[in-house]
Amino acid sequence: MIINNILEVSKKGLCVGCGTCESVCPKNSIKMVINKKKGIYLPNINQKLCNDCELCIKSCPGYELDFNSLSSELFNKCNTNQLIGKFLDTFIGYSTNMHIRYNSSSGGMITQILISSLELGIIDGALVTRMKKGNPLIPEPFIAKTKEEIIEASKSKYCPVPLNSALNELMTTKLKKIAVVGLPCHIHGIRKAEKINNKLRKKIIIHLGIFCIYTPTFNGTKLLLKKLSLNEEKIKNIEYRGKGWPGSMKIIDHKHEIIVNEYWKFIGLNFFIPFRCLKCCDGTNELADISFGDAWLPEYSNDKIGSSIIISRTKFSLELLYSLNENNKINLNEIDVGKVIESQRGMLYFKKKSFESRIKISRNSPEYNIKHLNPYLMDYVTSIYIYLSIYLASFSIFRKLLPHIPDKILVLYKLFPTLINRKKRI
Ligand SMILES: Cc1cc2nc3c(=O)[nH]c(=O)nc-3n(C[C@H](O)[C@H](O)[C@H](O)COP(=O)(O)OP(=O)(O)OC[C@H]3O[C@@H](n4cnc5c(N)ncnc54)[C@H](O)[C@@H]3O)c2cc1C
Repeated sequence: MIINNILEVSKKGLCVGCGTCESVCPKNSIKMVINKKKGIYLPNINQKLCNDCELCIKSCPGYELDFNSLSSELFNKCNTNQLIGKFLDTFIGYSTNMHIRYNSSSGGMITQILISSLELGIIDGALVTRMKKGNPLIPEPFIAKTKEEIIEASKSKYCPVPLNSALNELMTTKLKKIAVVGLPCHIHGIRKAEKINNKLRKKIIIHLGIFCIYTPTFNGTKLLLKKLSLNEEKIKNIEYRGKGWPGSMKIIDHKHEIIVNEYWKFIGLNFFIPFRCLKCCDGTNELADISFGDAWLPEYSNDKIGSSIIISRTKFSLELLYSLNENNKINLNEIDVGKVIESQRGMLYFKKKSFESRIKISRNSPEYNIKHLNPYLMDYVTSIYIYLSIYLASFSIFRKLLPHIPDKILVLYKLFPTLINRKKRI
């Protein structure tokens, strides 16, 4: 597929909303804006400023990404696994600081690694994401320079994040050694941008990646607020996770502090899967130096504080993990790669096994240059159902109707793929 313009990427439904194009544009002609209908970020281009340099398209991870060459180049001495990519070693662990561990997503490994690296002078700052102070429904990527700022940015944000819009700040800051924390699509964009920008490649010394099944659109959070009869204008703070594991969502408005345990019941509805996330085959952040996910394992089901699954892909990241473990900053235990896969069965099924069924029945697809697994017949039925759900959600009348549909019907609707495809295994 030949694409010359970032707007074409967006029109073909291939934009991941990462914000890389905004940062690399030398003319500042691109701005990531929220498309209210879709509930995602898309690029807006001021054609008068654009000088057709094509840097945006060269660093765009949306329409093509050569996984094979990139991962071989980055992690050449690694083992390879078709489901989790290249790796040196796999672990389960958590921060030994109880406050950090309890108040993060799944063990606080990312927050602890960033804080310790900052204290040891390994990094001068970290590109992370917090929710905006004046508008807590909107995420704000920024360069954290202190322990407090890193903590402020902890916990998963289940809404679109244009993380790479802040690469501009990263390139211009006087800080020399920066860590980045992002979802697979963010790291894909950063890796592509690093290929054409030496300064960026030298400054980013470690890429911490989060596992990701998909990022719910803003419309997911909006439905949840409506179901709770909360006025989004009056929201003072939103934390999607925290308070132990798997944790709860905390919403503060002008009057109350509300704790919601079953938030995923609404936010995670198929209506709110961004179309582009259906075409991503990277669940464990295969281009990150270290990847982190929840420990969804039976033996950890009673762990109410939190532990993370960790995949280390570089010697540098492995040494960092070992040294933090020796200095008692983190607790680290080696696990077999089979355990990593067991902890992510549903997510890996979606990203790897049923992936091809979504690509085959849809018009425009990204080029990844990797071999995919063969889906089952029922995966095609599930894929049609997901595409139809997203299509339905594109109508404003349907979105207005959604809050009035009884919860039980919504839950049954979400369970449909599991009901028709019960034997699925990765
Ligand atoms: C959209 C999404 C989908 C996920 N899907 C899965 C999954 O399928 N399986 C699984 O096991 N784990 C998944 N995770 C990862 C999991 O929720 C934890 O982020 C991970 O286990 C790390 O936990 P931690 O305690 O070490 O992170 P913390 O110490 O709490 O730090 C989290 C870090 O991630 C950054 N961050 C949070 N949200 C975002 C975001 N949306 N974009 C960019 N940066 C962000 C924060 O700024 C912070 O630095 C998902 C996370 C997100 C945000």
